Amino acid sequence: MNSRIVESLRRSYKYKLKPTPEQERVLAEVLWRCRTLYNTALEQRISLYRQRGVPISRYSQEAELQDLRVEMPEYAALHSHVLQDVLARLDKTYQAFFRRLMNGEKPGFPRFQGRTRYHSFTYKEVGNGARLDTGYLILSKIGRVAVRWSRPLEGTPKTVTISREADGWYAILSCADVPAQPLPATGRETGIDVGLKVFLITAEGEIVENPRHYRRAEKTLAKAQRRVSRRTKGSKRRRKAVGHLQRAHQHVRRQRADFHHKTALHLLREHDTISLEDLRVANLVRKRHLAKSISDASWAAFRSILEAKAACAGRRVVAVPPASTSQDCSGCGERVPKSLSVRTHVCTNCGLVMDRDENAARNIQWAGQALRGLAAVAAGMNRESVGL
Ligand SMILES: [Zn+2]
Repeated sequence: MNSRIVESLRRSYKYKLKPTPEQERVLAEVLWRCRTLYNTALEQRISLYRQRGVPISRYSQEAELQDLRVEMPEYAALHSHVLQDVLARLDKTYQAFFRRLMNGEKPGFPRFQGRTRYHSFTYKEVGNGARLDTGYLILSKIGRVAVRWSRPLEGTPKTVTISREADGWYAILSCADVPAQPLPATGRETGIDVGLKVFLITAEGEIVENPRHYRRAEKTLAKAQRRVSRRTKGSKRRRKAVGHLQRAHQHVRRQRADFHHKTALHLLREHDTISLEDLRVANLVRKRHLAKSISDASWAAFRSILEAKAACAGRRVVAVPPASTSQDCSGCGERVPKSLSVRTHVCTNCGLVMDRDENAARNIQWAGQALRGLAAVAAGMNRESVGL
């Protein structure tokens, strides 16, 4: 039914690399070449579009790679898959740009990537250019790189992404056929919604607060950012400040990921099925001013962690189309229109009085059940949660 459940158990594992100084130099060079290629290919797309008014395809750009590798030996020194992946990324950015344009949004045009914005490259097929050997990661044209195996690797590695972060280099191994570790069934299910001031609220009214360190981290980030802008461009002191800022960003990312993992695990332990709104679609706008404390990007990141964990644990995450979940009564189905400032749902039809977000979370749960054909959704019927 929901393809996300049956979908292969794919999971990413991230490990710190321990490259030699020479390997580090080569890694930085590969990254630099990839970024240059990205920017060149973007420029080509723009100028060709201006000349002929037709978009250039990823495939014709890929065909040109062959010539590029012949003409410029520095590109021949890079694995062809790594270069192809650069073009694939550009293509993806382009597709997203046009898709949003079609939807009537005002997306930012794909941009040229500066040194700090482009920080990874990918081998799209383990065994071809990158492979594992007795605890080392063997990268074509780079060599045997030592890895800090901080956690066990499971499943079959499919792709490897090498990423530069503030404190060094990392390898992200995307694995298929990761063995499931099912959690015992609970017979319970729920719906979750983004809260106004809290991270999320469940259909049972349970609240998960935004972690307190968010605000403190925001302040630290702002301070580090100001320090960068005060310093002269190109100076040594500025470069140092940039390093500081990058480490602060990394710290925030890790704290957020940690919070998402813990929250997801908590929800999955308690419930067999979790429904949430498919916010990738239209009404992000409604949610955007709703959820000031949490960015859309963060919610999307949480969702993908929840889905990945659910797949491993044999749990179900159901994405329901967002439709008047905050307006309808979760008790009787009656439409109860209310503006954003109204925080309590009061139904004159059935008398239900409930926190606005909790009512929405319940509606999300009902919608999830309806999607799975479990609940009768005729208006006016007594809505009992269907245990599974
Ligand atoms: Zn009602």
